[in-house]
Amino acid sequence: MPEGVKYMNQAITYPAPTTISFIVTNKCTAACPNCCFECNPRNDCWLSSEIIKRHIVSAVTQWPSIRLVIFTGGECFMNIPKMLELCDFAKQMHLAVRIVTNCFWATSLRQATLILKKFKEVGLDEINYSTGDEHLQYVPLKNIVTAIKTSLLFSIKTAINVETHPDAEFKISEIFENPEIARLIHNNPNFSIIQGVWMPFTEEGISCIPPLPSRFPINLFDRCTNLFAGPVVSPENNLMSCCGLPVKYIPQMNLGNLSNCEITTLYSKNLKNFLRIWLFVDGPYKILLFIQSKINKKIPELYLFSHNCFYCACIYTNPNYYSILESYYREVVASVLFRYNCLIETNKRMLL
Ligand code: SF4
Ligand code: SF4
Repeated sequence: MPEGVKYMNQAITYPAPTTISFIVTNKCTAACPNCCFECNPRNDCWLSSEIIKRHIVSAVTQWPSIRLVIFTGGECFMNIPKMLELCDFAKQMHLAVRIVTNCFWATSLRQATLILKKFKEVGLDEINYSTGDEHLQYVPLKNIVTAIKTSLLFSIKTAINVETHPDAEFKISEIFENPEIARLIHNNPNFSIIQGVWMPFTEEGISCIPPLPSRFPINLFDRCTNLFAGPVVSPENNLMSCCGLPVKYIPQMNLGNLSNCEITTLYSKNLKNFLRIWLFVDGPYKILLFIQSKINKKIPELYLFSHNCFYCACIYTNPNYYSILESYYREVVASVLFRYNCLIETNKRMLL
């Protein structure tokens, strides 16, 4: 795939970023076998608060379009004073703040209230709770229920992100069996459910990916809207192309270390690979279909049902697929760039 921001003699720009995300740490109270960042209690890499603040200042100065800062991990709540300080700082920069957590800390209503009261005081806007079969091995459902109840009582936007796959034992309905929760979430605009399609990261997990259902899921053709949404910084202070699940396993998604470089300078590197632009326009499933059309035989991954990032990881990590793209990408450059520019124009108007 060519490097350089000029394709077909046409200079292109990236859409104005709207978020900045920090994977604050790879340390976690849990050790889910399919954790996309391989987090566990033994890891101990944290992005320093000074670095995070520097990146926030640099990003909002360059891109006034940034409205939201996302703190995720690992488990950010393992260092509550740090997260309170960062949340406070981001609010002073007039940004909305979202934190993602597994709720290990919500062991009782009293404890959850003590903690979330402090976050409410510094202005936390949104909190996402992750759960599902793997998470529940480490964090009991009662913590999730307690956390939902508490954040909704504080009027903090609350989303629950559930690992979803056909054989999942945990069903979201279990949460609603609690009458108080059922009452709290009924017609509550502050509550939402995100059903993240499960993606495997272990050999054992890959063998469990289900086949495509007979009713073809239309969202397989989604383009990747995660790319170009805004900078993503890893605990090692690397700038990542996206915060997609397999990003840690795809070297091309690591844009470089930020220790000696401004985030705004390195971010433009995102445009320097045609495949990322193509993913933004067409999404990974369609690109795999393109590869299949060129090799004239079935690509097995196309007949499995997983997260869009799974198909993306197949493209990047299979040298045969990647070399097919290198041979044939020129056929689509004009069409992809035309549609890319249309998307950028639409995006500009939406931000006006
Ligand atoms: S709780 Fe989340 S961050 Fe922690 S190990 Fe599990 S998937 Fe990874
Ligand atoms: S589809 Fe690819 S580029 Fe998009 S978020 Fe997933 S890994 Fe990142």
